[in-house]
Amino acid sequence: MEFSSFGQKFTRLAGITQLMDDLNQGLLNPDAIMLGGGNPAAVPELQQALQQQMQQSLDQGEMLRAIANYDGPQGKDSFNQALADLLQREYGWPVSARNIALTNGSQTAFFYLFNLLAGDFPDGRRKKVLFPLAPEYIGYADSALSEEMFLACKPAIQLLEERQFKYQVDFEALEIGEDVGLICVSRPTNPTGNVLSDEEVAHLDRLAREHGIPLLIDGAYGTPFPNIIFSEATPFWNDNTILSLSLSKLGLPGCRCGIVVANEQIIQALGNLSGIINLAPGGMGPTLMQPWVESGDIIRHSERWIRPFYQAKAQQAVRWLQEAIPDPRFRIHKPEGALFLWLWFDELPIHSQQLYERLKAEGLIVVPGHYFFPGIEDGDWPHQYQCLRLNYAQSDTQVRQGIEILARIVLEAYQN
Ligand code: PLP
Repeated sequence: MEFSSFGQKFTRLAGITQLMDDLNQGLLNPDAIMLGGGNPAAVPELQQALQQQMQQSLDQGEMLRAIANYDGPQGKDSFNQALADLLQREYGWPVSARNIALTNGSQTAFFYLFNLLAGDFPDGRRKKVLFPLAPEYIGYADSALSEEMFLACKPAIQLLEERQFKYQVDFEALEIGEDVGLICVSRPTNPTGNVLSDEEVAHLDRLAREHGIPLLIDGAYGTPFPNIIFSEATPFWNDNTILSLSLSKLGLPGCRCGIVVANEQIIQALGNLSGIINLAPGGMGPTLMQPWVESGDIIRHSERWIRPFYQAKAQQAVRWLQEAIPDPRFRIHKPEGALFLWLWFDELPIHSQQLYERLKAEGLIVVPGHYFFPGIEDGDWPHQYQCLRLNYAQSDTQVRQGIEILARIVLEAYQN
């Protein structure tokens, strides 16, 4: 069978596909240590509250109504209204339900937004999506309809005490040409756990406005929910900002609910796209979460249960890693948020893909770092082959066992 250009582009082995495959295989193999995927942890208090909320939605008939009816293409109106009210109340943002669209997971929103604002234009121009701070989220890399649609800027690397480091936007090196249609950042960043400072966000916002292009902030792990942020970060939005949120990392990835907050022109466009591709986004997630959005509990539960759970786990995993791998060439990105630790093995004599394969052969699944540099054109930059991402949010036993395997294989690689 012959596949179209679209078919060929979207069926080749993408980093994200490998990740989802490994995750799936791991689920089938009970002995595998799964520190690869981005699955959120089961936060006990949250799971209990979700269970109760689900029962209530069932008892009140809301859930049956949600699955028995299509919503509009922008998603469940009453949820969008409740969320707009919450954002106004909490942050004073001038938003209404017309500034909100739901998608089937925020991954779908990136596909819409990237191809809406970059790619081929009717007058022959081609525009790109700029990632001002590589490394960036693996899931962006293959979601463009056109080839070579991403540009990225290498980070400034700040070395910190206790073998930690932190990436910062290198504004001196950042170039925004006529061919950039969108600036995109994840905050916190998957894979690194970096959180852009308020100054960095304000600076990017200024640059975006100067160039007449939007700034997309992917807050899948960020503010206002699930708020897996351990540093200071003020929630940010204005009518040139596209804020992407999700119910996934709150604990509901199976609901596939992404949320976009943006100006009305963008939201209208997303609604039209959604109508063609999906008819309507699923209504179960919004139905389940609407009472928490109305009461503000979605923010309070994030602060009370979700953030402390992840912060404690991140700190513990950092300690275990530093004890297990005393080599001075090993550094950890300062954990400021999200579910991951980003590990840098400077001068590692093997490529991160080889390291991944050796670990996988020992039953440990992580994600090799080189996938997270979409748009970086300098193939000779060694840093991009020296890192890997580890999900620290699984059970303590799994994380400890995983770290033991990692330490053994990395020390062997350094010695040979
Ligand atoms: N953004 C980031 C940074 C992510 O890590 C993920 C998933 O891992 C997503 C967005 C997409 O999540 P979802 O499609 O479940 O909303």
